[in-house]
Amino acid sequence: MSISLIDAKASEIIDAIKTKKISALEVTEFFLKRANELNPKLNAFISIDSDCVEQAKLIDKKISMGEPVGKLAGLPIGVKDLLCVKDQITTAASKMLANFKSPYSSTVVDKLLAEDAVILGKTNLDEFAMGSSNETSYFGNVKNPWNEDYVPGGSSGGSAAAVAARMCPVAIGTDTGGSIRQPANFCGIVGLKPTYGRVSRYGVIAFASSLDQVGPMASYVEDCALVLEVISGSDEMDSSSVEQPVAEYSKANLGSKKLNIALPKQYFSEALSAEVREKLQLAIESLKEDGHKFNEVDLPLTEYAISTYYLIACSEASSNLARYDGVRYGHRTNEVSNLESLYVKSRSEAFGPEVKRRLMLGTYALSSGYYDAYFEKACKLRAKLQKEFLKVFETNDLILSPVTTDTAFKIGERVSDPLQMYLNDILTISTNLAGLPAMSVPIGFSGNKMPIGAQLIAKAFGESEMLSFAELLQSKKIHKGEQPNVF
Ligand code: GLN
Repeated sequence: MSISLIDAKASEIIDAIKTKKISALEVTEFFLKRANELNPKLNAFISIDSDCVEQAKLIDKKISMGEPVGKLAGLPIGVKDLLCVKDQITTAASKMLANFKSPYSSTVVDKLLAEDAVILGKTNLDEFAMGSSNETSYFGNVKNPWNEDYVPGGSSGGSAAAVAARMCPVAIGTDTGGSIRQPANFCGIVGLKPTYGRVSRYGVIAFASSLDQVGPMASYVEDCALVLEVISGSDEMDSSSVEQPVAEYSKANLGSKKLNIALPKQYFSEALSAEVREKLQLAIESLKEDGHKFNEVDLPLTEYAISTYYLIACSEASSNLARYDGVRYGHRTNEVSNLESLYVKSRSEAFGPEVKRRLMLGTYALSSGYYDAYFEKACKLRAKLQKEFLKVFETNDLILSPVTTDTAFKIGERVSDPLQMYLNDILTISTNLAGLPAMSVPIGFSGNKMPIGAQLIAKAFGESEMLSFAELLQSKKIHKGEQPNVF
């Protein structure tokens, strides 16, 4: 083999396939084998599709006939099991949808396939994407490839673990309050949440529709840029997608431009672990030497972000998940005595405890008499938070911060304390509330060899500048060449 598939960039794999140095089939078989070997240990995939070799063969055929192939020719991709792939089971990691066959594909999956990607399988997640540790999945929790006693983060923990363990070079995740960035951070990879409306949500099982976004996860910033370029764009099937031209993210380049970077005081609070603070400081010092300027800024509403997010996200979830009633699709109880018991039993049997907790919280916040005090108040706060960010971006190009206050925690450590689990999202959720693009970039490791990342936040549709700066940031990574335990 002329290329080292274990650490090659996506563009190198695609070039090698296009120039016939390696076939798409060989590439697919390599990753399929690795995914099948490591999955019993890591549980990163809910399903692995061995039939995807057929698609690889089609791509090889096109190449051998001299026909044009797409931008992602032969690139194996893992897709979070929240996105529909036609005729395949899409579970949302819930008993509710354990047997649900998708009648159509999500726009993101269609776009990937149109550019000749190979969909390797569906990755594990927290049930309906509700969680920060992957422990709420009906299919069992995912293990962190750097140390299997630790969580991979969530909810896109399967995608993050699959990429970190190199079961696939790229994966797709979704981010409602941090679900791409936090697991990317815990698993030492890159994860990008686009601007709200940049990527179509059509065919993505809804959690909180005003916050959900789909985005790429990969080992390299460059790979995220390439995949973002493919999946972005307005879509007539999603009225919240935005008519904004898609930039050539894969060619984004900072050139000699020097940026003004904001450091929000509230994101560097006492709660930040000494190790995370130290690694960020090292990265900042090195970026200063390159001529970039850092300015301390204030985002005082940060302290209300968790309560605002959990009110809005749970309220929207309670409305979105009302469709699972045992009648149309999804789990249906065997014990039906009347219509109400059909609803109650089907839902009680098939939703896990975390989903139930959130549906109750959301229903309460939306109920008459409480709507103004909870949901409406949260919406007002959200608008104020958006303004706070706009102000920061009047004089700054990007924001730099930690992704989480500490590195990955141990499996089981926080399951009995939901509040502690929710507090884990404090540094990621504000950007979803404000609709801004943000990403997580690996910068180093802790003493116990767990990954540490940094978060970048940009103005709406500022993905190009964010990606080119992220590229520079990733080049500062300390201890290059570290490998997860499973290697
Ligand atoms: N951890 C957050 C939550 O549990 C975010 C989840 C997500 O982004 N899907 O709501």
